[in-house]
Amino acid sequence: MTPFPIILSSPSGGGKTTITKELLARRSDLGYSVSATTRGPRHAEVDGHDYHFMSHADFVGRQQGGEFAESAEVHGKLYGTLRCEVHRVLDSGRHVIMDIDVQGAARFGDAFPESVLIFLVPPSAEVLLRRLMARRTENASDLLVRLETAKRELEAIPKYEYVVVNGDLEQAVRETAAIIDAERLKRTRAPALGERVRELVDGLDREIAALRLQSPAMPVPRG
Ligand code: 5GP
Repeated sequence: MTPFPIILSSPSGGGKTTITKELLARRSDLGYSVSATTRGPRHAEVDGHDYHFMSHADFVGRQQGGEFAESAEVHGKLYGTLRCEVHRVLDSGRHVIMDIDVQGAARFGDAFPESVLIFLVPPSAEVLLRRLMARRTENASDLLVRLETAKRELEAIPKYEYVVVNGDLEQAVRETAAIIDAERLKRTRAPALGERVRELVDGLDREIAALRLQSPAMPVPRG
């Protein structure tokens, strides 16, 4: 099976980081693409693990050098997916899971059409606000910006193939995993399917010929 990119988007506080971490802990067929950003690290975030934290100049230099598969400005800071990160995971035979905003998701989907786009929706405005406040990472004006941005981000839902409501975390993780499994089994992702079917038909022809030799009087089925 050919590994593919999986994009999770949601408004801030929608749970994509938590769901991504859960999926990575439960499934060995997934790897994470560490994004680059010009925002500073929060709490215990580690450079190279949570993000590649970089200066504005470094980011723009890499952008100009074509190192990003997509990039976008989110809440006044630059974020982007490094091509080398995506290939590092895909080349190891694992699907690459990414947590990117709606602008970046659309661009990435154009560049990698085999991607699966999943939107995580919060169950209600109150829950979203509660989760954002519980993070204690934003001040009141940041909170307002994130809520205003959330309204715009929800307008992008029609561009996504799948929607998961993240009310109950366990259920949302299971549903996201089910999407990955269904996508894995898509006919269009099956490698060398035509060849495998031809081999099956040849095998059946051999079995039929052998049966006929054993019972020559057997009637030939119609149709
Ligand atoms: P945060 O600063 O809260 O970690 O992330 C802010 C927003 O940036 C989130 O919506 C997150 O999905 C988005 N983001 C994180 N990494 C990337 C990326 O590589 N590309 C884009 N376009 N958005 C990203």
